[in-house]
Amino acid sequence: MNEGVEFYRHDLGVAELEAVRETLSSLFLTQGPTAARFERAFADWLETPEIVTVSSASMGLVLLLRALGVGPGDEVITTPLTFVATSNAALHLGARVVFADVDPRTGLLCPEAVRAALSPRTRAIVAVHLYGQLADVPRLKAIADAHGCALVEDAAHAVEGRLGDVRPGSHSDGAVFSFYATKTLTCGDGGAVAVRDPGLAAELRLLRNHGITKDAASRYGRDYRHWDMVTLGWKAPLTDLQAAILLPQLERLEARREKREARVRRYEKGLREHPALELLEWHGVSAHHLFTVLAPEGVRDRLLEGLSRAGIGCAVNYRAVHTLEYYREVLGFRPEDFPVAREIGERTLSLPLWPDLPETDVDRVCRTLIGLVDEAVG
Ligand SMILES: *Cc1c(COP(=O)(O)O)cnc(C)c1O
Repeated sequence: MNEGVEFYRHDLGVAELEAVRETLSSLFLTQGPTAARFERAFADWLETPEIVTVSSASMGLVLLLRALGVGPGDEVITTPLTFVATSNAALHLGARVVFADVDPRTGLLCPEAVRAALSPRTRAIVAVHLYGQLADVPRLKAIADAHGCALVEDAAHAVEGRLGDVRPGSHSDGAVFSFYATKTLTCGDGGAVAVRDPGLAAELRLLRNHGITKDAASRYGRDYRHWDMVTLGWKAPLTDLQAAILLPQLERLEARREKREARVRRYEKGLREHPALELLEWHGVSAHHLFTVLAPEGVRDRLLEGLSRAGIGCAVNYRAVHTLEYYREVLGFRPEDFPVAREIGERTLSLPLWPDLPETDVDRVCRTLIGLVDEAVG
């Protein structure tokens, strides 16, 4: 029996260990000078004016939508082909989620569907850069501007993504990043928000710390001063220990992206010619966070089982959010409401992808998958 193929493997090592050791021997453990250093370094890397770190992308989305004024009675338009965090953020603020369907070629939010979903209550549009490819930010921004609502990017998959001169956060009201364990820039859990408006950044800094006027680091100073609470916020810091793990990775991001892209191209070469398999299109510079194939209708779950039995890590990103129990039973969505997202959600299958994934493993995954497909479709 062969050894398995991991779905994901991080490459954190000596540099991160040394950075954590340094932080451990300093005064601060929670949000302090190292988190501030990461905010500046990540803003430079992304060429964006302001980065506000947070405890997760899930919280980043809640805070950003709140800072943009989303609340009860508002509608937030987004894609159903995403992780539940995207749409749940609107629900947590008492807003209504309005889904718009995706483009069948890319799985990305379709601007025409967004336009059709606009209403006088629309307060924000949330685009998702699915699998690492940027959604059509310029067109979505034009739609948002014409309607007088905000455009937010869920960039959890796309730290390294670009489309011409568009990078996450460069043309929208804000972009949210995730540093969760399997993401391309990771510290186990963590997140950040990129915004261009300094006032919005200041509001986010308040909201991530209970609306308190002093952050943990300045409260720790020797000269005690009272702090006040000026708005109702949450507790959502990125700690100095997490920031220490993130900092050394910035200079490796592009090299890692290129290695993932090489593996994606090898997968595509191995799978493209198979008549029963379909691949989504990608354009521009994709972050290549995930590599997915579309299985023939009705056989995806059998392929998942077969790959698992062969020791090959696989996942589903994602079954469409509007087809999940809570969204059906409590919110009243019907699976047929967004047929393209539903179909991709029923057929999509994510294969192992990480920078040092051996190319021989890519070939093995292709052979195993093709064998399983041939068996399933006879
Ligand atoms: C991972 C992910 C999130 C949530 O990120 P966390 O940091 O785990 O909260 C949100 N949206 C998408 C598209 C994701 O993949």
